[in-house]
Amino acid sequence: MKKAFIQTFGCQMNEHDSDRIKVLLKRENYEITDNMDEAKLILLNTCSVRENPENKVYSLIGTLKSRKQTEDDLIIGVGGCVAQQEGKNILKRNNMVDLVFGPDNIFHIGEMLAEVKAGNRVVRVAWQERKKKVQNFIPESEIKTGKVKAGKALVSITKGCDNFCSYCIVPYTRGRLVSRDHENILEECSNLINKGAVEITLLGQNVNSYGTEEYGFPELLKDVADIDGLKRLRFTSPYPNDWTNELSDLLTSHPNICNQLHLPFQAGGDNVLKAMKRDHKIKTYLEKMHYLKSINPDIALGTDLIVGFPGETEEDFECTLDVMRQLQFKQVFAYKYSPRPGTKALSLGDTVSRQDKEKRLAKVLDLHQEIAGKLLQADVGKYVSVLIEGKDLFTDNAVKGRTEANTQITIENCDAKSGDLIMAEVTQARAYSLVGKAL
Ligand code: SF4
Repeated sequence: MKKAFIQTFGCQMNEHDSDRIKVLLKRENYEITDNMDEAKLILLNTCSVRENPENKVYSLIGTLKSRKQTEDDLIIGVGGCVAQQEGKNILKRNNMVDLVFGPDNIFHIGEMLAEVKAGNRVVRVAWQERKKKVQNFIPESEIKTGKVKAGKALVSITKGCDNFCSYCIVPYTRGRLVSRDHENILEECSNLINKGAVEITLLGQNVNSYGTEEYGFPELLKDVADIDGLKRLRFTSPYPNDWTNELSDLLTSHPNICNQLHLPFQAGGDNVLKAMKRDHKIKTYLEKMHYLKSINPDIALGTDLIVGFPGETEEDFECTLDVMRQLQFKQVFAYKYSPRPGTKALSLGDTVSRQDKEKRLAKVLDLHQEIAGKLLQADVGKYVSVLIEGKDLFTDNAVKGRTEANTQITIENCDAKSGDLIMAEVTQARAYSLVGKAL
């Protein structure tokens, strides 16, 4: 049996697509391997959100040159957002690549590989036709094939995005927003719970824009939370404009919806948000989050931030720090702005110097460390539920897992298995993680 290796770059959406591709490849009689050297099919599932992953893809392909010259049956494929964006240019740029396919084409992987084996170089980047806002972009036949890993499962509820933030390539690589029919989603979730899923994460580029006015994200969230046997429910990524106090109420009142919200605000200055075409003002973002904190003081907040967006002044940047101070985020993913081909923001130039971007990023990270450190210290002595991910390789006789707040925690002297949901007492705070003992 030939072996297949998939390297995934980027977000959870790509991770999820790679899991689907693995299921499909097994059906094509491939064995999945973690060792690229023994694979006869190498697929790179790419991300073009930032420059770095894209560069990594091309350098990884470069390392395969001598193998490609000597192994006639080695197939190299590029999928994901870079593939969607670049299409046949990838074949022109690199004669080692046999197959290029966009995210809407993964369910045709068998046909595409047959074409490659027949001696063709294949490019498939056509979109699935969007006939309606709600349509099942995952074939009915695949509803039962979702994977549960360490008690966790991912479920796509939307694909694409209609927001066109000026720095973002997603609407061009993943297409316009399409939502799956809710009955189709609920059936998939029930199947995954029957297969042992303890925690389900609902996925979408803009997850809370799901659905229609009659049946939207609040209805779906409630219906999934109410499925018998589901212990934890998460969702990612929500969009601030579509976040409502109704959703805050729902999150707070349902015990199995994790008490955590990662809501990217990206920048604190209104003129920067306007240039980003984010559609929200910082005042409304703050009002929504202050409401959530007022009804749910234990909520763990998280956010994404971009520093050094074109036109961002020191004053704008101070607004970003101010929002961080006000809302006390436990989790922050911060990045320096880098212009991406194909985005509207490219026309704005790259006006903040590299040095200033670096200084601003350092300030964000320092402030985050200070805030997160305090919040983690305040967790010491608390009882938390922990979903075990596996052995902690850095600590003897210990396992690691995630709390409801999505904080990593090491449980010492514990032999719980991956996928177990246990209660623990937090005994120690580290810089970005916790240590605890099982109860
Ligand atoms: S909402 Fe998110 S996915 Fe959609 S365009 Fe903006 S950043 Fe990109």
